[in-house]
Amino acid sequence: MAIKQKDGSYAVVLDKILTTPQELKKIAEALEKHGAKLVKFSESQRMVVVGIDPERLDELCRDAGVKLAPAVGNVVRSVKFCPGNALCVMGLQDTIGIAEKLKKFEGLNLPSKMKIAVSGCPNSCTEPAVRDIGLMGTKDGFTIFVGGSAGRKPRIGWKLAEKIKPDEAVELVERIIDFYKNNAKKGQRLGDFIESIGFDKFRNAVLG
Ligand code: SF4
Repeated sequence: MAIKQKDGSYAVVLDKILTTPQELKKIAEALEKHGAKLVKFSESQRMVVVGIDPERLDELCRDAGVKLAPAVGNVVRSVKFCPGNALCVMGLQDTIGIAEKLKKFEGLNLPSKMKIAVSGCPNSCTEPAVRDIGLMGTKDGFTIFVGGSAGRKPRIGWKLAEKIKPDEAVELVERIIDFYKNNAKKGQRLGDFIESIGFDKFRNAVLG
């Protein structure tokens, strides 16, 4: 989706977080061809391209070899993740692998927007404690935070579970999303929903 800018031009967010110089060159050539004026990076570390004609989005994506990222609306937004143990010397967990598995939720319609972040260690470079769902790597697995927010109503998320293995973490994220989707009111962020029903009730519902 193209996002209107203050100057009347449009921006799009590309679903690309890890790339190579070769891919980057191809993307740059496509952006130049389609008249992009500027590239910056979003909070979820995706490329935001300003100055794109909304009518040419399909053509741009085809030329650049990328898809658009779910950057606006009441959907699961692009999962933010750090390099984790694949690249970072501090990394304790495979963030790239789990982010790949969490990708299936991106773009899913929900009562409000949902931000998910994954960090490979407690240094929390992607700030999982202040995202709707945050996965923080430790030496024993992931600590899962829920209901955090860094926006108009800043809130540290509730610590839902600890020492969760990667596949269990993906299943738990699915249960959280399902419960939230089926029970929250329209416009209610996950943190507000948890507050409205009480954390104990929420925990019992998603942990079973
Ligand atoms: S959160 Fe940890 S693993 Fe991820 S980039 Fe930061 S220091 Fe490295």
